[in-house]
Amino acid sequence: MRDRLVALTPKPISIERLTRVHHTRHIKQVRSVAERGGGGLMGMGDETYLAPRSYDAARLAAGAVVTGVEAILRGEVKNAFALVRPPGHHAFADHGEGFCLFNNIAIAAATARAEFGIDRVLIVDFDVHHGNGTNSIFYRDPACSFFLRISGHLSGTGYWDEVGEGAGVGYSVNVPLLPGWGDEAMRSIFDDLLVPIARRFQPQLILVSAGYDLSWTDRLGSMLVTTPGFFNLTRTLVQLADELCGGKLVMTLEGGYGLDGLAYGVLASFAAMLGDEAAADPIGPGRYPEKPFDDQYLDQLRALHGLPPQ
Ligand code: ZN
Repeated sequence: MRDRLVALTPKPISIERLTRVHHTRHIKQVRSVAERGGGGLMGMGDETYLAPRSYDAARLAAGAVVTGVEAILRGEVKNAFALVRPPGHHAFADHGEGFCLFNNIAIAAATARAEFGIDRVLIVDFDVHHGNGTNSIFYRDPACSFFLRISGHLSGTGYWDEVGEGAGVGYSVNVPLLPGWGDEAMRSIFDDLLVPIARRFQPQLILVSAGYDLSWTDRLGSMLVTTPGFFNLTRTLVQLADELCGGKLVMTLEGGYGLDGLAYGVLASFAAMLGDEAAADPIGPGRYPEKPFDDQYLDQLRALHGLPPQ
């Protein structure tokens, strides 16, 4: 697979780009905790823990997503995947959460808008946990953002009726998930909700928070998405980008804690981004049947977002 990819070298994100999204106080705190040798981010306990080089790693992670955006908007590559840690989608403007220090995808969206004349950015977050930081940053903003969120986990946000505020009303889409759903449910949610919303929005760039904790091997999630499932999700995004914005698609790694599901899921996404017919390694849970998906549930979400019944 590596022979078919182009490696881009990321630069650390500049302070100017960081401060488009994050408060200076938060940036300084991340830096000072790292410089003191690491430790928990204030108020967040050990869940958002810094090592001595975490500030550098976080600036490189955000920089990598922006490097992908720049390469695409300059026409150097067709699409890009930022394989980064730390992840970003739980980072708010003023604090970090859930392993995230800086919000990589929000910084990339802000950079594309401020420096590349992109008005309409679609952010798709398929991590199993709610992208609460991203949702908060764009909640009053007409950047269209689409989130999945496993019920009863972590943030206590991401309910279906969280649709944005002020200028952002109608631009936040939150889709709660039930444990045990798998490929079939994800295909319905993408085909029957995300695709029509994206077509209505007409993005000029699609950014994706790609979390592989939807996978059947993940112990923080409780879903049953297989590698063909991740291939299909990514292929839908590639097709949307081809149809709507000249293929401009940048994915960035968020969560993923079951190593087989993470590794083979990312490979399946690469295969879809390269235009392959299928994932190279079709593996999944086998003997566990996925929980049946309820189409009525999707009809309610479609109605809420102004889409006709199917
Ligand atoms: Zn997650």
